[in-house]
Amino acid sequence: MRAMYLEKAGPADSKPLMLTSLSVPAPKPGEARLRVLACGVCHTDLHIVEGELSPPKMPIVPGHQIVGIVDEVNPLPEKPAKVKVGERVGVPWLYRSCGKCEYCLSGKENLCNAPMFTGFSVDGGYEEYMLAHIDFLVKIPDTLSDTEAAPLLCAGIIGHRSLKVAGVRPGDTVGLFGFGASAHLALQEARGLGCSVQVFTRSPKHQKLAMELGATWAGRPGDVPPKLCDECITFAPVGSVIPHALGVLKRGGAVAINAVHLDGIPEFPYSLVYWERKISSVANATRQDAEEFMEIAGRIPIRPVVEVYPLEEANEALIALKHGTIQGAAVLQIADRL
Ligand SMILES: [Zn+2]
Ligand SMILES: [Zn+2]
Repeated sequence: MRAMYLEKAGPADSKPLMLTSLSVPAPKPGEARLRVLACGVCHTDLHIVEGELSPPKMPIVPGHQIVGIVDEVNPLPEKPAKVKVGERVGVPWLYRSCGKCEYCLSGKENLCNAPMFTGFSVDGGYEEYMLAHIDFLVKIPDTLSDTEAAPLLCAGIIGHRSLKVAGVRPGDTVGLFGFGASAHLALQEARGLGCSVQVFTRSPKHQKLAMELGATWAGRPGDVPPKLCDECITFAPVGSVIPHALGVLKRGGAVAINAVHLDGIPEFPYSLVYWERKISSVANATRQDAEEFMEIAGRIPIRPVVEVYPLEEANEALIALKHGTIQGAAVLQIADRL
């Protein structure tokens, strides 16, 4: 089978992923094998490919927003599988949690002490067949195509968790900093809650897309928006936006930082966090987040804007992502549904 394989990290522009032929893997007990239809391209993939995040498994096949058809199931003897051969399912970033640590036992599996991540601890979806842990597969709404559903599986789910971490309530004014795959889905979810959304991004193209998707205002980080925000979520992987976000926040408001990797937060005056303003990161997501978000996405409905690339152009998709030229989300289309 074809796979885009990372042997050695390097700048995206040097095209570090190589098209390779690998043998089709066999599922171990507790795993399912999927025929991959589509896989979203995430900023985390870019961090892995460029070496800012070092996977425990090298070489690695990246990709953790996978839509596929279950091809073979190998359930544990004592546990019937929750999916059947032929079913369309999704694989998120959290490949599995340990199920035993204090976080897993208290409903916070996103904070697990010994997690495994798709396309990081194990091979991901930039390939034609992949293995996934049965218990962590996600059902996908029928209303979405394969390429539309793929970016929901990380960008969408983590955007949903960011809204929860920030404490967004119906009718709030929400500020989004950066407007890539995750933000354009969070905007639609917040609009579904009756929130007004102000978007801060340097890209005029992204400002235009934000307005088309229902933002009440779009400008640049550092601009003064029409209203102060109840909550802000930062998506840009640059710490310089954090003081900007605090600067447009109401008293008692919260900033949620949706970034796996950040280049450091610049020093800022205490007055920006005074009045009980709060800052929190957003770390991974639980199965409950995934299930909640898929239900919301089908109901609102959330319609991802996607730019589709073939599997062998994964490097080109990452280069476009790095340079901020993707509108919405980049997705690799790997096969058609039969
Ligand atoms: Zn755990
Ligand atoms: Zn991701």
